[in-house]
Amino acid sequence: MRAESAGVVRRILCVFPRYTSSFGTFEYSYPLTDGVQAFMPPQGLLLIAAYLPENWPVRFIDENIRPATAEDFEWAEAVFVSGMHIQRHQMNDICRRAHAFDLPVAIGGPSVSACPDYYPSFDYLHVGELGDATDELIALLARDPSRPSRQVVLKTADRLDMTCFPLPAYELAELKRYFLGSIQYSSGCPYQCEFCDIPGLYGRNPRLKTPQQITAELDKLLECGIRGSVYFVDDNFIGNRKAALDLLPHLVEWQKKTGFILRFSCEATLNIAKRPEILAGMREAFFCTVFCGIETPDPVALKAMHKDHNMMVPIMEGIRTINSYGMEVVSGIILGLDTDKPDTGAHLLEFIEASQIPLLTINLLQALPKTPLWDRLARENRLIEDEGLESNVVFRQPYDEVVDTWRKCMGVAYEPARVLKRYEYQIQNTAPNQVKRPPQKATRQNIKLGLTMLRNIFWKIGVLGDYKLEFWKFALRRLARGEIEHLIASMMVAHHLIMFARGASRGRQNASNYSMRLREASVPAE
Ligand code: SF4
Repeated sequence: MRAESAGVVRRILCVFPRYTSSFGTFEYSYPLTDGVQAFMPPQGLLLIAAYLPENWPVRFIDENIRPATAEDFEWAEAVFVSGMHIQRHQMNDICRRAHAFDLPVAIGGPSVSACPDYYPSFDYLHVGELGDATDELIALLARDPSRPSRQVVLKTADRLDMTCFPLPAYELAELKRYFLGSIQYSSGCPYQCEFCDIPGLYGRNPRLKTPQQITAELDKLLECGIRGSVYFVDDNFIGNRKAALDLLPHLVEWQKKTGFILRFSCEATLNIAKRPEILAGMREAFFCTVFCGIETPDPVALKAMHKDHNMMVPIMEGIRTINSYGMEVVSGIILGLDTDKPDTGAHLLEFIEASQIPLLTINLLQALPKTPLWDRLARENRLIEDEGLESNVVFRQPYDEVVDTWRKCMGVAYEPARVLKRYEYQIQNTAPNQVKRPPQKATRQNIKLGLTMLRNIFWKIGVLGDYKLEFWKFALRRLARGEIEHLIASMMVAHHLIMFARGASRGRQNASNYSMRLREASVPAE
C-alpha cells in the first residue's frame, strides 16, 4: 500500500545518519570484506521511502556509506531522517545541513518517538509508527514544501496494519555494502523488562506481517544483491509463538527453492528453549544465530528487572538446547544493576567461560526514556544528565568501580585466545547440528568474494595483525579440516570483538552501547 499525492510531485531525500563507533556495528571487520561499509539497511527509512506516493522521486543516502552532498540537498524539496538515540548528534547535524539549503526536514523513528525534545530544530516530528501521522506529513508537504514557521508535531494514533506495509525500498540501497541484510516480521513484545522501551513504544501484543510478505521481501532482498545472512529485527521472534510457527514452513520452502542461499538470525527470549517445535522449524529454515537477552546469570537480578521468563529453564541448559538445534547464542549482558556486587564481574567471566558463548554485548545499564526503569530512577533521583559519563544512572556501586568492572570484563572476555576458543567450541559442538544445506553454487562472484575475504584475513590478521599466534593456531585447524567457511565466518566477527574490546578496556570506547537497541537498523535488541 502507498500514500496518495493528489497529482502533486515532491522530491524526497531520505538520509540515514552515521553510527558512532560501537560494539554492535562490526566496523573493524569491514576491511576484511569485499567492500562492506555499513551494518544493516535501515528498515524504517526504506519502508517510508516505499510508502511515499508512487510519483514522488526518492533518493536514499546512508551516511555510513557516503555523506549527502550539496547536489543531493539542491535536488531535494524535503528531507526525511530517522535513527536511534545513539545517532542523535548526527541527526541534528543532517538537519542543520538541510536547513542551509532552506529545506523542510522531518524526523521519524525510535529516537524521536521516545524523546521528541531531543530534536528542537526539525520542522516536522513524526512520533510513532507508520500510520495517520505519515499521511498527514505527506499531505502537508504536498500542500506546501516550504519550511513551516514553527515545529509541527505529528503523532500516529492509527497505525497502518503491518499486512498493508509495502515491501521496503531495498532497490534504493546498495545492499552489497551492508554487513547483514535485515527483515521484520513482527513488532512489539509481550514482556515488560524494566529497562526496555520496546513494549512502551511498540506495544505488548505483537503486530505481524504475513508469511507471504516475508517471502516476497526475501525475494526482493536477493534480487537487490543481499548475500550471506539476513537478520530478523523483530523485538522478540517468539513474541507470538503461533505466528513464528506459521512462518517457519514458508521460510523452509523458500530456502529449498533458493538452495539455502541465506543464513537467518533473530532475537528471541531465552524461553525459546522450551519450544522444541519452534527450534526444530528454525533449524530446518537454516537459522544459525539467536540473540537472547540473558542480561545476567544472577537469578536475583533477573527477578528485580522483571525478566523472570529467563528462568523458565536453567540458563545454561537453555543455551545448550539452542546449540543442539545448530544455533549459536549471542547474549546481551548488563552491568551496573542495583543487585550487582563487588564480585559480579568475576561471576560474569565464569559464566562466559561455562557457556562458551562467543559474542556477548556487555553494556552498562542505561535508563531509556519511556521505560519503567526511567520512571523508578527519576523517583529515586538517580538519573543524571552528563554526556561525559558512561551512563545516565547513579549506580548503587561506586561509578568508577562499575566502569572498571566493565573494562576488565571486556578486556578478559575478548582476549584473542579466549574468543577463538569459544568459536572453536561452537564449530565443534553447535555447527554439526545445523541442517546440511546443498553445496552452494561456485559462481565467479562467490569464488571472488571468498578469495578476497581469505586474502584480507590472512594479510591483515595473519601477517600484519598483533595476535598472529592465536590466529594461526585457530586458522590452521580450520584449514586442516577444510573448514574454510567457518574460518571466514568466525574471523569476520571475532576480529571486530577483539579490536573493539581492546579499545574499550583501555577506556577508548563507550561503556553504554545500550542505546544500540538497533530497532531502526536493528541489531540485537533484547
Ligand atoms: S528486553 Fe526483550 S523480552 Fe524484555 S521487554 Fe524488551 S524485547 Fe521484550
